[in-house]
Amino acid sequence: MNAEPDINPTIIVRCELEQRERSLLAPFAAFSADSRGRLKQESECDYRMAYQHDRDRIIHSKAFRRLKYKTQVFLTPSGDHYRTRLTHTLEVSQIARTIAKALFLNEDLTEAIALGHDLGHTPFGHAGEAVLNRLHPDGFHHFEQSLRVVDILEKEGAGLNLSFEVRDGIFKHSKGKGAILSPALEHTAITLEGRIVRLADIIAYVNHDLDDAIRAQAISRDEIPVNCRKILGLTHPQRINTMVTDIIDVSRKNPGELQISPAILDAITELREFLFTNVYESPIVYRDFSKASRLLEEIYKYFIEHPNELRERYYPAYIDDVSLEDNLRDFIASMTDRYAFSLYEKLFLPHPWNI
Ligand code: MG
Repeated sequence: MNAEPDINPTIIVRCELEQRERSLLAPFAAFSADSRGRLKQESECDYRMAYQHDRDRIIHSKAFRRLKYKTQVFLTPSGDHYRTRLTHTLEVSQIARTIAKALFLNEDLTEAIALGHDLGHTPFGHAGEAVLNRLHPDGFHHFEQSLRVVDILEKEGAGLNLSFEVRDGIFKHSKGKGAILSPALEHTAITLEGRIVRLADIIAYVNHDLDDAIRAQAISRDEIPVNCRKILGLTHPQRINTMVTDIIDVSRKNPGELQISPAILDAITELREFLFTNVYESPIVYRDFSKASRLLEEIYKYFIEHPNELRERYYPAYIDDVSLEDNLRDFIASMTDRYAFSLYEKLFLPHPWNI
């Protein structure tokens, strides 16, 4: 009698993929089979590796779809070509994957971190972040909220239960105005893939925010600092290409490290400072930001006085013992720009009679 081996053939698919990763990727890549695991134990998918599965969970999440209607820099622009938080996320992912692939690192992990990094972003870009930071007793940072979204808030309080390395990369992607490279150890992702996303995030935003600012006539091409033009190039594709090529070249010469030439790093830093002064904090952008801030502040204050309305009509407490302030922070951070506008209208503006 022939004894059939009792193995589900699809499980072999995942094992084969994991083996292929081991034979293809650099020794210092993060291997899916070596993940430190998930918050809640579960059996892995039969035909997808851990980070591949995480990437899919993020794409299928509601928070990911909402990125479509969240501001990047210019508030709900009517022009179709301006970036939104979703297209920013896709540009980060594309840049990060290019670098990861060229360095023979884990593309699935890189992509999962990139697609999840801004899930906790507020409506109205950094204006929303600043309001919540001021109003909430514990402050507010979008990278902490991104982790809260994937750990707790998605799937009505169940979370996405992502791998440790994806969660680590999401939590440590942000730099604000801080150092681009070599941040404090506690802010450095444990994987090279996570560090790539941090770099790809800044490469994406300095380039596309510059492009959008020129489109919006907030600045002109001639105003870009001479040094940035000389070192990075004159056009949008040239500038991205210079940055990505440099990271790949220098890092390949230093295996196991993620590096960038000092001259390119200085030019990126100068370009970012230029954007802060001339775009992010400029009157043309700031004028709308202060209006958006007031709108969110009024919504926040309204629900502090009407907690039952918040929980019964708008945003239930998905987790036990959540404070009103935390509940409200989660609600506001989750909003898209257009949802915030329509909620404000509903709460504060009179409605015409239908008959
Ligand atoms: Mg980002």
